[in-house]
Amino acid sequence: MSTDCIFCKIIARQAPAKIVYQDEHVTAFHDASPHTPVHLLIVPNRHIASVNEVGDGDEQLLGHLMTVARQLAAQEKVARSGYRLVINTGPDTGQSVFHLHMHLVGGRPIPLRLG
Ligand code: 5GP
Ligand code: ZN
Repeated sequence: MSTDCIFCKIIARQAPAKIVYQDEHVTAFHDASPHTPVHLLIVPNRHIASVNEVGDGDEQLLGHLMTVARQLAAQEKVARSGYRLVINTGPDTGQSVFHLHMHLVGGRPIPLRLG
C-alpha cells in the first residue's frame, strides 16, 4: 500500500467509494466524476503506478482485470449495448491518479476522439 495513494485508501476502505466488486486481487468502484451513465474503475489491489511499472509476473493479474470488467459490464447491463475499457498512461493521456486503473465506460454512445 502506498499511504499517499487515494486508490490504495479506497481498496483498504480507509477512504469512501461506492465499491461494486472486490476480491483478493482487484477492486472496482464508481468513478467520483462519471463521464458516462456507467463509469467504473477497476484496479489491482497492489499498488502499481501505471502500465509502465507492470512486470512480467503481472500477466495473470492484468488478465483478471479484464474478466472482472466483463462481469461488471454484464452486471451494469451494458454488455450488449457496448462499453469501452481505457487505461490512461502518462501525461499525454491526462493520467491523474498514479495507481493503475481501467475505466469501464458505457451507457450511451461514446465517440472515440483522438485529439
Ligand atoms: P485518469 O485520468 O487517471 O485515467 O482517471 C482518474 C479517474 O479517477 C478520474 O476519472 C477521476 O474522476 C477518478 N477519481 C479521482 N479521485 C477519485 C476518488 O477519490 N474516488 C473515486 N471514486 N474516483 C476518483
Ligand atoms: Zn495505490
